[in-house]
Amino acid sequence: MIKKIPSQITEVLRTIEKAGFEAYVVGGCVRDLLMQRTPRDWDVTTNAKPEQVQSLFPESFYENDFGTVGVKVARFSPGDFEYDVVEVTTFRVESKYSDKRRPDAVRFADTLAEDLSRRDFTINALALKIANSDYEIIDLYAGQKDLQNKIIRTVGNPVERFDEDALRMMRAIRFHSELGFQIEPATYAAIVNLKENMQHISQERIKDELVKIILSDDPAGGIDMLHETGLLAYVIPELETGVGVAQSHHHIYTVYKHCLLALKHCPSPKLEVRLASLFHDIAKPQAKRGQGEEATFYNHDYLGAKVTETIMRRLRFSKEVTEKVRMLVENHMFYYNPEEVGESSVRRLIQKVGLENMQDLIDVRVADRLGSGVPKAKPYKLRHLEYMVEKLSHDAVSVKMLRINGSDLIGELGFQPGPKIGAILDVLLSEVIEHSAKNEKGFLLTRAKELEQEDLQKLREMAKMKIEEKKEEDDKEIRDKYWVK
Ligand code: ATP
Ligand code: MG
Repeated sequence: MIKKIPSQITEVLRTIEKAGFEAYVVGGCVRDLLMQRTPRDWDVTTNAKPEQVQSLFPESFYENDFGTVGVKVARFSPGDFEYDVVEVTTFRVESKYSDKRRPDAVRFADTLAEDLSRRDFTINALALKIANSDYEIIDLYAGQKDLQNKIIRTVGNPVERFDEDALRMMRAIRFHSELGFQIEPATYAAIVNLKENMQHISQERIKDELVKIILSDDPAGGIDMLHETGLLAYVIPELETGVGVAQSHHHIYTVYKHCLLALKHCPSPKLEVRLASLFHDIAKPQAKRGQGEEATFYNHDYLGAKVTETIMRRLRFSKEVTEKVRMLVENHMFYYNPEEVGESSVRRLIQKVGLENMQDLIDVRVADRLGSGVPKAKPYKLRHLEYMVEKLSHDAVSVKMLRINGSDLIGELGFQPGPKIGAILDVLLSEVIEHSAKNEKGFLLTRAKELEQEDLQKLREMAKMKIEEKKEEDDKEIRDKYWVK
């Protein structure tokens, strides 16, 4: 029936109970246990006050202003940290939310029933206690029945509950896409009615729910429900601009639908790759010139990268995640055709996006293709590119990978330390990217001696010209031959 509860949890419950207090496992983890899913985190609720909880567990810390004490326990499963944390929260009722963001004050409650009444959905308002050697479920809002029928329903009046905290509307949709449950009609209607309250919610809280939708089993279903209810305009309004925008002849879907389908078919479980699949064509509405078969979308990749950065900064994503998604969107139009594109082009692509990102970029392309309605995810060309990336993976694409370095130039050729050394290495790299066979110490030293005759300015121009020239060439190929109509 219920999966075994880790001994660390039952130990926490027992310790609190032995001291004369009540203690329950509560919320999402009980829901997950009943569904045979592995809980993401473990929450315990008790009538003991935070200081009392702390005194029972020497290895604990007072986490926040909401009555939560973090209790360190032995790890549930191998991970990065030495310990896991069980959150033990004192029973509480939430009072008024006058700013619709956070409760004005946190009041502790005396009973479990009061605590359960402030929880968002019936399936999240279940508690579990240890009874003898078994468990007992406390279910005051028919959460088990909703769990059985796969229904998301607020505890009490949905209008009141969403009016208290608008994020709950987004949470309802998040549980829909995570669990595959339907939202009960009155709950759904309240979301549509109160959608504007989303404007009061902080970007950080929105981001956390959005991430869970994107990483769920049905991310596209979640995003589409955000759109259908009207919440998307407060989460990612930029996606709304693609609604009803037709593409050119060989695209059967509108921009919005195509973005959604690319997300749906994204082969990667990674957050960055899924977001890039969703955002890859986000700037097509702005980039569109002309109508019908003549429509073009020049530069939508570069514009899309900018829009992506704006969205992700607004939502307070980390710099690293933002940069990765931005880069994938900017490069999603890369051109590859084994008959025309040589090894040096592939090396330049690797140089531009990083070897470690190549598979992710290819996954965005697979998502793009499948989201366009093409039957075959990975045609010969893409499989060949994967083979080439593997084959060329040891070729130099950075100065560090050259077979000589600055010290060699100083030690073996007697060059003076200075900026010229860096400039010479840059020129050598550009030549090695063209012909990987040139990455050979003797050859590079000879060539470096020749280059030493040039002045710094000229060397810089040479390195830059090579890169610019080639970039332009690659881009031109993209624009002329690939997707661009
Ligand atoms: P998961 O941990 O899988 O993301 P969860 O349901 O456990 O989902 P948490 O954010 O961990 O969600 O919250 C734990 C519990 O706290 C919820 O199950 C619910 O009972 C309650 N809760 C969380 N956020 C809210 C909220 N905004 N309004 C009311 N109750 C909430
Ligand atoms: Mg949880």
